[in-house]
Amino acid sequence: MAELIDGKQLAKKVNAQTEQAVTELKTQGIEPKLVVIIVGDDEASRIYVRNKNRKAQQLGINSETKQLPKDTSQTELLKLIDQYNQDETVHGIMVQSPLPSQIDEAAVTRAISPAKDADGFNPENVGKLYANSDLNFPVSCTPKGIMTMLAAYDVQIAGANAVIVGRSNIVGRPMAALLLNASATVTVVHSHTQNMQAYTREADILIVATGIAHLIKGEDIKPGATVIDVGMNRDENGKLTGDVDFESASKVAGKITPVPGGVGPMTIATLMQQTVELAKWSE
Ligand code: NAD
Repeated sequence: MAELIDGKQLAKKVNAQTEQAVTELKTQGIEPKLVVIIVGDDEASRIYVRNKNRKAQQLGINSETKQLPKDTSQTELLKLIDQYNQDETVHGIMVQSPLPSQIDEAAVTRAISPAKDADGFNPENVGKLYANSDLNFPVSCTPKGIMTMLAAYDVQIAGANAVIVGRSNIVGRPMAALLLNASATVTVVHSHTQNMQAYTREADILIVATGIAHLIKGEDIKPGATVIDVGMNRDENGKLTGDVDFESASKVAGKITPVPGGVGPMTIATLMQQTVELAKWSE
């Protein structure tokens, strides 16, 4: 049986470090502040935002949620973002997706100041990630949290064959860049890939982010591989389930993340960690 990569436990450790860092910053007169903007009344978004808020408050981060009506215009949203960009007491800004159709998501990611970009989606920060910059800059929290998990569980990255299933801007692409920067041999497979299993079966590190429940099974995995399941899907009973069939995969993998309790808690912990980093870097 594979060793379990316990994201919940690791998130507690990361959160404890973040809390400590907040205490230290406060002694220097800096109170880290995160602003989360939510447009419309999507139920899932509201739950995510509430969880982020709660976690921030637990760690001593000043967290403000700005709820806007679903008919908010793009101009109004960009104006609000600009106000927060100018506000020196604010260190991190994020806009919860999905956004209503009248708003251009790409324009929103461009509008958030790169120095306050809590999600790491601004093209300037994405460019630094791809250029393997040695400056300080924020990175998409889910892949950044996965790098923390791989390090905590002593997974060898340099020289490893890393295969990523999925090429989204928030998971697959930044994950590929982070692993490449850490000297893995990186392959990205996606919905147009032919014979995907030929790639996944060669992976020492397999990261799956597709949103398709149980797409990857034990037979698709190299014996002893590290398997990271990013998927968050609801099964027919409303239960949270991953993109990896845990039962068969955990018999083949060397290390594996569960769903829930794997990548999810690490994403929120990383958002908190990154907010505090933004506050530090703003000095
Ligand atoms: P997305 O829909 O933006 O992208 C899905 C990707 O999967 C695409 O690149 C597509 O090419 C690929 N794909 C689709 N079908 C495929 C197939 N049959 N074979 C191979 N590749 C295929 O999704 P996303 O935003 O990257 O999210 C993926 C999953 O991860 C979702 O379940 C989402 O809820 C979850 N997620 C979880 C967290 C977390 O914190 N745990 C964070 C982000 C996303």
